[in-house]
Amino acid sequence: MERAPHIAIVPSPGMGHLIPLVEFAKRLKNNHNISATFIIPNDGPLSISQKAFLDSLPMGLNHIILPPLREVFKSLVADNNMVALFIDLFGTDAFDVAIEFGVSPYAFFPSTAMGLSFFLYLPKLDQMTSCEYRDLPEPVQIPGCLPVRGQDLLDPVQDRKNDAYKWVLHNAKRYMMAEGIAVNSFKELEGGAFKALLEAEPGKPKIYPVGPLIQTGSSSDVDGSGCLKWLDGQPCGSVLYISFGSGGTLSSNQLNELAMGLELSEQRFIWVVRSPSDQANATYFNSHGHKDPLGFLPNGFLERTKGNGFVVSSWAPQAQILSHSSTGGFLTHCCWNSILETVVHGVPVIAWPLYAEQKMNAVSLTEGIKVALRPNVGENGIISRVEIARVVNSLLEGEEGKAIRSRIRDLKDAAANVISKDGCSTKTLDKLASMLKNKNKLSL
Ligand code: UDP
Repeated sequence: MERAPHIAIVPSPGMGHLIPLVEFAKRLKNNHNISATFIIPNDGPLSISQKAFLDSLPMGLNHIILPPLREVFKSLVADNNMVALFIDLFGTDAFDVAIEFGVSPYAFFPSTAMGLSFFLYLPKLDQMTSCEYRDLPEPVQIPGCLPVRGQDLLDPVQDRKNDAYKWVLHNAKRYMMAEGIAVNSFKELEGGAFKALLEAEPGKPKIYPVGPLIQTGSSSDVDGSGCLKWLDGQPCGSVLYISFGSGGTLSSNQLNELAMGLELSEQRFIWVVRSPSDQANATYFNSHGHKDPLGFLPNGFLERTKGNGFVVSSWAPQAQILSHSSTGGFLTHCCWNSILETVVHGVPVIAWPLYAEQKMNAVSLTEGIKVALRPNVGENGIISRVEIARVVNSLLEGEEGKAIRSRIRDLKDAAANVISKDGCSTKTLDKLASMLKNKNKLSL
């Protein structure tokens, strides 16, 4: 009997990578009967949210915590009809193992088409440039994209002598080894970048725009804090949701200013609060920190904002909050899953990038598709309470907010369209699945 095709998926660490890859695997399983095993690299125990999420994977999707990849892969190949290995972002070393076992190497790019275009362009940029990118007199022209100032490029390329830069460059060069790259975005959102990416060139991997793949129900959605119930009682479009993803953290001063700014705005809000840290991604690998974050809020803040605001420690059911009719805005750190989720639900944005490629994303949101306001950072590196109150009011009640709301609603319709039964992203995923199934036949 013909065995159903199987793929292995090696995600980079962190919930933000796992979530879209699981959605990708769910579609391959449900629509094309291609099952998958997640091979999870982790050098310690899983976080509570990761564990709950992985324990709730549907039938046909399994996971293994990674001992040596080669050993796991060898036994998976022996037991399954393995047709491809997918990595995301920085996992290209795993391609060598796939190739050794005659399995096709693929990538799932969990971020923007602009980010992928930058990755594919980086080896050339590296050769052409002798200084730091932030010292370039002109913005960097990534093929098909808005010009980006050197200092807005992703963090790890900010210091070219650093190992982090060498690591990104190493992976960027190896992207050319992939047979194909699925990208979690769509043309209406990033027309220019996709136009350049989809131009065929010798040796260039085939690009598959399959997005937006966003989180659909999982056990990490449980409304432990009761915030959804609270939202039910708020007027339509009145609440600002504030979250810095699974790991973003603010400094103590900035946390204080944000609290005071929200209070000053007198707008309604739900805020996922994390304990402060001077490192912007301090809780990335374990969003359930040990200290009670609420203890870091200004004195009396909770009492004074009671009724108007709802504060959640560490983790909130974001997908449900964004799809709730009372939610009228999203203050986000601009990581890609959050952006896709806000686009799919048509919620206007305040862009507050913190680390990684978030500044590039903030540029696209504010200057490219124009669905976000971006607060100005003061000379002391802090966004002041007055500035915060200004952008919050402007987004929820001002003219700028109105224009943004109308643009993001158009994008919401476009997103619904591309993932509908006959939409572009669905069809592209069908093509990718047939390609994988074909490998199955060839190897029989
Ligand atoms: N998320 C959530 N609750 C939270 C924080 C995050 O459900 O309190 C989910 C969010 O919906 C998104 C993912 O975690 O799907 C975060 O991914 P993103 O790319 O936005 O940020 P990252 O965590 O990678 O910085």
